[in-house]
Amino acid sequence: HPNAKQGQTYTIATDVTFAPFEFKDESGEYVGIDMELLKAIAEDQGFKYEMKPLGFNAAVQALESKQVDGVIAGMSITDERQKKFDFSKPYFDSGVVMAIAETNKEIKSYKDLKGKKVAVKTGTEGAAFADSIKDKYGFKTVSFDDSANMYDDVKGGNTVACFDDYPVIAYGTTQHNGLKMVTDKEKGASYGFAVSKGQNKELLEKFNAGLENLKANGKYDQLMNKYLGKQA
Ligand code: GLN
Repeated sequence: HPNAKQGQTYTIATDVTFAPFEFKDESGEYVGIDMELLKAIAEDQGFKYEMKPLGFNAAVQALESKQVDGVIAGMSITDERQKKFDFSKPYFDSGVVMAIAETNKEIKSYKDLKGKKVAVKTGTEGAAFADSIKDKYGFKTVSFDDSANMYDDVKGGNTVACFDDYPVIAYGTTQHNGLKMVTDKEKGASYGFAVSKGQNKELLEKFNAGLENLKANGKYDQLMNKYLGKQA
């Protein structure tokens, strides 16, 4: 129920598959940094919420139309989004990187994308970055709603590369997801928890206060270590 008051339950939207931030474990439960971070913050601050894995673009749209109270989905704090949403303090530094199939020996730089198709995920910073360089390097983009389908398209060879968040691609390669990186990461914005502009100030304040407490009591670091190990 949007705009939850005392004792009510907030509705929070997230992505469907964006490991290590949100993904289903073997038992079908949603786990990951975002899932556990919000859980720990809610416990610390004493609020209840219901999590809706809608997909990234759908989650952002749902927030914009005020169908949900907040979004936690590895969502980058961009200037454009700050016009529509209020963000928490940043909780994770990110960036965008190109990924290609592990078996691909042809693509070594953006120049090699000339005349090729590149996969992007609708509404993301990675898609915006690909759009910003596609004319310069002469490639076309193909859009996907979630990261898993985008990676499958690259592995299947329909598209030769994709652009996604560095921490997600880096984690994927440690899980042997069939992709590799051949270029450096591009600068990207940090992740924040978002609420509609001017709405749910209370929820945002609780998120920030909880985040600060988890950083002070070591739980934030424990969580990062759990999912990222030495990468953190
Ligand atoms: N960080 C990227 C963005 O905000 C991608 C988020 C995602 O795909 N879940 O656009």
